[in-house]
Amino acid sequence: MTRRISILGVTGSIGASTVSVLEHQAEGAFAVEAVTGARNIAGLAERARSLRAGVAVTADPALYGDLKDALAGSGVEAAAGPEALVEAASRPADIVMSAIVGAAGLAPTLAAARAGASVALANKECLVAAGDLFIREVEAAGSTLLPVDSEHNAIFQLVEGEAARIERLILTCSGGPFRTWGMEELATATAAQAVKHPQWDMGAKISIDSATLFNKALEMIEAHHLFAVAPGQVEVIIHPQSIIHSMIGFHDGSILAHLGPPDMRVAISHALTWPERGALPVERLDFARLASLTFEAPDATRFPAIRLAREAMDRGGLAGCVLNGAKEVALEAFMAGRIGFLDMAALVEEVMDSLSHLDAATGLEDVYDADAAARRGMADLIAARS
Ligand code: NDP
Repeated sequence: MTRRISILGVTGSIGASTVSVLEHQAEGAFAVEAVTGARNIAGLAERARSLRAGVAVTADPALYGDLKDALAGSGVEAAAGPEALVEAASRPADIVMSAIVGAAGLAPTLAAARAGASVALANKECLVAAGDLFIREVEAAGSTLLPVDSEHNAIFQLVEGEAARIERLILTCSGGPFRTWGMEELATATAAQAVKHPQWDMGAKISIDSATLFNKALEMIEAHHLFAVAPGQVEVIIHPQSIIHSMIGFHDGSILAHLGPPDMRVAISHALTWPERGALPVERLDFARLASLTFEAPDATRFPAIRLAREAMDRGGLAGCVLNGAKEVALEAFMAGRIGFLDMAALVEEVMDSLSHLDAATGLEDVYDADAAARRGMADLIAARS
């Protein structure tokens, strides 16, 4: 039976891997309803054409004309703007890939869930910024969340039938490109150095988040909501080879680990073909060549993001939203060369402390307000330094 799929963020790194996974499916297994992007109009039009999508949407209204021109004669409808994104995400589909980067992914992903589609969730920010609300909406709509983030997908595969017996979730972390760097080197690290991830080929922002360990911080909060475990049950261990994608520890002391090649298509394929397990011609692990798997504790002094995630989870409410909004602005400023690598976490902590009085969200408006306050707070701190 053909399954209808929409891909939000088709022009990104997860978008590309999703297209690659679809190319390995049997003819007619999937039909593409909607694809979305933002600034990469040529890439969006090319993917919309090759996937024979019903509609292609750019988030930027100013680029509507360019998209329409690029799709001329293809039979693919063109649309633009945030409302069109939400409309595309709400179109009838069996599964929606949520792979827009950042808090911009929240509204369209929520729309997909509300429309009853299963959501293959790559975007971390939905759960980090709006965790409890997002989960409540998903449950009320009867939608299914299929985690795509490799760690959460690994846990999802391990957890089946065992949820009540979980003692700890152990998220593995490659340590990023600066794992062995000292404080002095970190102080002068550039965005060009930070995007060179040792194991994973990802978008620029998530690669830099991996260098600060903010990516792991977001994943900790994501795991706390996704698997309904207490903050203290979420652990992080550095595992530079990125072969073990995560582990679950049980009350009897035993541990289950999920292993696989460091290739996002494995997690994406699992989510798209769940509850079946589709075949995928990715690299097979060769243990003789791997020889050793190593582990080390994360260093909280050089990488404070893990501690900030713990604080956000302990505070609860909108603290995750504040952490994420502030972090996104700090990341942009680092990419633009306006602040240093170590400033990112220091400034995020300042914003979190200044907004620690915010109550829990009663609706999405509260989430957007907290996000805006965090962004303003970070922008003010950055402006005050220049
Ligand atoms: P990329 O930066 O490669 O792609 C981001 C996508 O979002 C692009 O399609 C981009 O469009 C689109 N986009 C950017 N800004 C907006 C906006 N304001 N409104 C709507 N769409 C927008 O990111 P990744 O693919 O690396 O990551 C996507 C998400 O998945 C992130 O939340 C990330 O944390 C998560 N993730 C990624 C992993 C990876 O391996 N890459 C692993 C696990 C999770 P355009 O390019 O046209 O501007």
